[in-house]
Amino acid sequence: MYWNRTMETLPPDELEVLQKKRLKWTIKQAENVPFYQKRLSEAGISADNFTLEDMARIPFTTKKELREGYPFGFFAVPMRKVVRIHTTSGTTGKPTVVGYTQKDIENWAELIARDLTMIGLGEDDVFQNALGYGLFTGGLGFHYGAELIGMTVLPSATGNTRRQIEMIEDFGVTAINSTPSYAMHLAEVAEDMGAGLETLRVGIFGAEPWSDNMRRELESRLGITAYDSYGMSEMYGPGASFECRERSGLHFWHDAYYLEIIDPETGEGLGPGERGELVVTPLIKEAMPLLRFRTGDITMLLEDGCPCGRGQKISRILGRSDDMLVIRGVNVFPSQIEHVLLALPEVGEQFMVYIDRVKHLDEMTIDVELHREYFSGELKDLAKVQKKVSDILRETLGLRTRVNLVEPGTLPRFEGKAKRVVDRRTGVW
Ligand code: ADP
Ligand code: ZN
Repeated sequence: MYWNRTMETLPPDELEVLQKKRLKWTIKQAENVPFYQKRLSEAGISADNFTLEDMARIPFTTKKELREGYPFGFFAVPMRKVVRIHTTSGTTGKPTVVGYTQKDIENWAELIARDLTMIGLGEDDVFQNALGYGLFTGGLGFHYGAELIGMTVLPSATGNTRRQIEMIEDFGVTAINSTPSYAMHLAEVAEDMGAGLETLRVGIFGAEPWSDNMRRELESRLGITAYDSYGMSEMYGPGASFECRERSGLHFWHDAYYLEIIDPETGEGLGPGERGELVVTPLIKEAMPLLRFRTGDITMLLEDGCPCGRGQKISRILGRSDDMLVIRGVNVFPSQIEHVLLALPEVGEQFMVYIDRVKHLDEMTIDVELHREYFSGELKDLAKVQKKVSDILRETLGLRTRVNLVEPGTLPRFEGKAKRVVDRRTGVW
């Protein structure tokens, strides 16, 4: 099923022509922003004589630069044309501001409509949108696209988890959208309440990294098929990239975004199959065009050709380059720790990671909840489990960690994006 078949399946040669046209338009739009005007003129690039080869000469735009433009320094239209403001979540620092024209809001809804239609949702579905509504782009972003395709939308937002479970059952919810962390919490509460969630069949999860083992866990506990959704405020919000029914990578809407993958150290371009940082140039954004925005997110382009006929996919996001923990020379992403822990039946899915510096050496401590079925009321004779968990972490991550087993239900639960890593090294040495 397609929402906009022509755009979704544009042949590569036509796509290239369209992208080039839209890149020119975007450069023109960016010339309204003093920051870009200066950059482009320094690089000797103008919209009129732009060629694709010029792309590599445009300097990257970083999150730091967006912060320096706070609040409206990157807007390319007068404020009276801006109909909405959102901000980023501020996961890696002060939140930055994004603005939308009426046309931007329409374009954004269209991309979400494509995503939802692609996974078979439509007028017969009841959609519980359990993402934050407000300045966070997640809630409102999905809301408009979901209405556009005619689903019955419940703007449930986050929190009040027992009520969310009741709503699924009372209103016959068929599809739910949330962060994977919150979905896991929903599953846990549903089990406590003895709720069967019979009508639920689809889960859409995004806004933070989540592993394949987390997918399996959510699918079996919620009785759903789970899809990955990736986006960011700088690309409108969610919707830019989404799994199709194949669930082997995420399609990107290439008529709306021009993608590059770069080596984060050298800035050099990487090809399909080479993992690096995603750099995005939105092609249709009016209020806030961006040129070569460094997302900080680690992924790779996949070889072209999906049975569904849509354009080139990226692999699931491993994490942000900032999330990568370097412990005694070993690189680890929290999503890799999650993947390992979820494969072990003895422990639950909730964990916290603490990094300390002890005698000039980095130490990683993982607090992980025991699985309810392995917890008999007290934490004794658990040395064996503890050893097993740390042995497997060492084998798979190549890293020695200290493992603390804690009682089920004692670690924090998250309604939005999870914060599972606490780096206590700062200021220690
Ligand atoms: P912030 O960067 O402050 O969290 P946003 O709310 O705009 O602001 O979140 C966008 C970021 O969330 C992305 O850059 C990415 O790091 C993360 N993200 C979003 N969706 C996914 C996903 N499906 N998988 C992994 N990470 C994701
Ligand atoms: Zn596909």
